[in-house]
Amino acid sequence: MKNNSKKTSIVIILLIIIILLLILGFAILSKNVNKRTFNVIVDDTNVDKDSNNSISKLKEEKLKPKSYSAVIPTYMYHWVKEDTGGYEYPEMMVKPSEIKKQFEYLNTNNYDTIFITDLNEIYNFKKPIALTFDDGWQDVYNSVFPYAKEYKIKISMYVITDLIGTPGYCTIDQLKEMRDSGLVDIQSHTVTHRELATLSNDEVYKELSESKKYLKDNLNIDTTVICYPSGSFNNSVIKIAEDLGYTYGLAMDGGIYYTNRSDKMEITRIFLTRSMSLQTFINYSSNANVVVNWE
Ligand SMILES: [Zn+2]
Repeated sequence: MKNNSKKTSIVIILLIIIILLLILGFAILSKNVNKRTFNVIVDDTNVDKDSNNSISKLKEEKLKPKSYSAVIPTYMYHWVKEDTGGYEYPEMMVKPSEIKKQFEYLNTNNYDTIFITDLNEIYNFKKPIALTFDDGWQDVYNSVFPYAKEYKIKISMYVITDLIGTPGYCTIDQLKEMRDSGLVDIQSHTVTHRELATLSNDEVYKELSESKKYLKDNLNIDTTVICYPSGSFNNSVIKIAEDLGYTYGLAMDGGIYYTNRSDKMEITRIFLTRSMSLQTFINYSSNANVVVNWE
């Protein structure tokens, strides 16, 4: 009997162990199944994410070409006056009637007038022309803006923030009206129009940062273009400008701007003088071109 009861208890213990092992086995199995289901879900998410990523990658790849180069006739204007009125620099005063002819020509010949900030995606344009107006003269509001609206021409203005609203210069309301039209981009021409290459780094920093802040506070513009007063700049000016978030710099001369010939912080311009004929303007403009390699 003793032997029998011993056997019985061994059997019971074995049974318990087997049952425990079975329970353990099921537990592990079900855990794995859960895991697998979970993994499948995670995998699904990954697949979705991946396919979304690849779609956006594809889009990006489609939108951003492998390489490109552009030729952009970039014109520099200052005053716009019919009558030079004995002013000191008559060649810097283009006639409104000439502006009208130039804008009409660009419009009827399907040129793409661009803001300097459009250089970010210049590969989306075919015949880019940039029309830049320095100093922020009220002439632009009175004699250029009406033609910009009439011929759907985009122009950019470089304002001296200390002079906004002073005699001869645009008021903040005029700048707002032009900005709101979507046809006029307003960027920095510093606070006081001093020659940056002659200033200390601290003064350059002040000219660039305070004009940027003014344009943000008063016109809600994130300024990224600096037009160097009198075309004066050097490497340390460029460095300070870039540190402050400027991505384009406008020089005063150098002619047509080729993206593969000069740096974007040294964009060359064509001085549009009073005596420049429409034919000369047409000849310069005809160089506008964008070559894009989409592969
Ligand atoms: Zn200037």
